[in-house]
Amino acid sequence: MLDRLYLSLPKEALNKERFEMPRAESFVQGTKTIIKNFSPILKAINRDNEQSKRHFVKYLAKETASPANIEESQLILGGKFSDFQVNDLLKSYITQFVLCPVCKKPDTHVIEKQGVKILKCEACGAISSVKGL
Ligand SMILES: [Zn+2]
Repeated sequence: MLDRLYLSLPKEALNKERFEMPRAESFVQGTKTIIKNFSPILKAINRDNEQSKRHFVKYLAKETASPANIEESQLILGGKFSDFQVNDLLKSYITQFVLCPVCKKPDTHVIEKQGVKILKCEACGAISSVKGL
């Protein structure tokens, strides 16, 4: 069973080094949750432009059902969330909207083609349509 699982993995996924998920450093302050290193995270996942920032902040607001705002290099969520929850959200976002669905590398950016946003991968050249991008 394990052998078969191993064999079914694409060869490329085994050769290339794994992407290291950035870790959010967050803490609760009163009724808010502060992600201290939001800017470095955006840089690490190559989403350090206004459009991508807005998309990520909107995602966090929706998933936590709380207001989310960037303040300097931090992100402030208007609710109390554990470090585990915050990192879980970060991981979900990256898996869904940053990693290339084909090669799983983070070297992607969002492009618009005929009014539709798609994910373009610089590592393998794949162009993927991602729901909610
Ligand atoms: Zn790729």
